[in-house]
Amino acid sequence: MRLSRYFLPVLKDDPAEAQIASHRLMLRAGLVRQEAAGIYAWLPLGLRVLRRIERIVREEMDRAGAIELLMPTLQLADLWRESGRYDAYGPEMLRIRDRHERELLYGPTNEEMVTEILRAGVGSYRDLPRNLYQIQWKFRDEQRPRFGVMRGREFLMKDGYSFDLDEAGARRSYQRMFVAYLRTFARLGVKAIPMRAETGPIGGDLSHEFIVLAETGESDVYCDRAVLDLAVPPDDVDYGGELDPLIHAWTSLYAATSDVHDAVRYEASVPPERRLRTRGIEVGQIFYFGTKYSEPMRARVTMPDGSARALHGGSYGIGVSRLVGAIIEASHDEAGIVWPDAVAPFGVGLINLKPGDPATDSACIHLEHRLAGRGIEVLHDDTDARAGSKFATMDLVGVPWQIVVGPRGIAGGMVELKRRASGERIELTLDAAVACLVEGTVGKDAP
Ligand code: ATP
Ligand code: MG
Repeated sequence: MRLSRYFLPVLKDDPAEAQIASHRLMLRAGLVRQEAAGIYAWLPLGLRVLRRIERIVREEMDRAGAIELLMPTLQLADLWRESGRYDAYGPEMLRIRDRHERELLYGPTNEEMVTEILRAGVGSYRDLPRNLYQIQWKFRDEQRPRFGVMRGREFLMKDGYSFDLDEAGARRSYQRMFVAYLRTFARLGVKAIPMRAETGPIGGDLSHEFIVLAETGESDVYCDRAVLDLAVPPDDVDYGGELDPLIHAWTSLYAATSDVHDAVRYEASVPPERRLRTRGIEVGQIFYFGTKYSEPMRARVTMPDGSARALHGGSYGIGVSRLVGAIIEASHDEAGIVWPDAVAPFGVGLINLKPGDPATDSACIHLEHRLAGRGIEVLHDDTDARAGSKFATMDLVGVPWQIVVGPRGIAGGMVELKRRASGERIELTLDAAVACLVEGTVGKDAP
């Protein structure tokens, strides 16, 4: 992609409204633009990151046996009356009337709708278990939208729902999602710790929040530092096998949000030097809620003996758009964003120090083509901005590798390769730079 033809409206100065680094950097690097309080347009660079996150979320959901579908953003109020949540939900729900005076709402979550879909689509115990998910926009009229996309009103969520015949089956479904979440966040380049959590308006008795530790987070958390060193399950983890030991390893170490924090248990089970009280960002939450929706909504299957059985459900959310902010919060420096390779909007930023010079121009075009041929996307700065400003922009947008092509170097066949995260630079030939990027981490996101 040639920067001269791209749409990358970077800001020179810090926007006054941004209180935390990720919000400031997302506005400055031209990832999003606020259109109304808590409502954002995703500009081309931001959309690339969002799509890369979505891709990893999908791959891990599919690997764990979940099936993707897509439900509408608008729902009928009557559907929510079936579960009793229409009146219970409160002012966060955006309620709408259509031209026929029918009551609608913009979905804040989809338990009712997916239960209705299952109710219509399954009849027998043989049709279960099933796990359905979508990646879709949600609306919650948050009292205090803030921190940019971290607490938006319109936001992108991966929401998944499992349906089983009994509690034992539902707990296995819950465990599979627990493992899939560990893998998903690790691949996204963040450390998200599963913590015991309150169930809130979703209901149920078993829940974990996945929390990225950050001083600017809105959640108050307590945990055993040892949880930070646990190994993430590998990509060949057997989702059909026994997950108890793995889950036990993660849940036996103390980790809880302040809502369910138990000071007595904490002090009894965590040695003082391992106690960590800090703040964090909730990037996902999983719930087991049993028959909370299937009972009132009569979502049942017929059992072998002819009896009817209410479905046992769980739901599983990931804040896809919030993750963009959370990743930046966890990975930035004074110069800008430092994208983990797996979610970077481009693999390489290519800086032509002297556009119009035949030698640098042709070296840049050559590099762009060779890298593209290996599946590495390049943001090619071919503009006539000053060198200093080009370096600053590339650092700000946080592309993980930079190649700098200048007339002096190229006369000797050399370019400079810089790793954004460490600032390390080396001079090497064009061929060596390509080889280094192709063999290196660029574009390879599986741990
Ligand atoms: P919070 O406690 O932060 O308000 P929640 O517990 O109400 O979130 P869930 O119903 O668990 O949210 O939704 C699943 C995920 O969606 C959350 O873990 C979070 O990552 C994301 N999410 C929730 N609300 C917002 C929001 N207003 N803006 C961006 N992402 C959100
Ligand atoms: Mg939650």
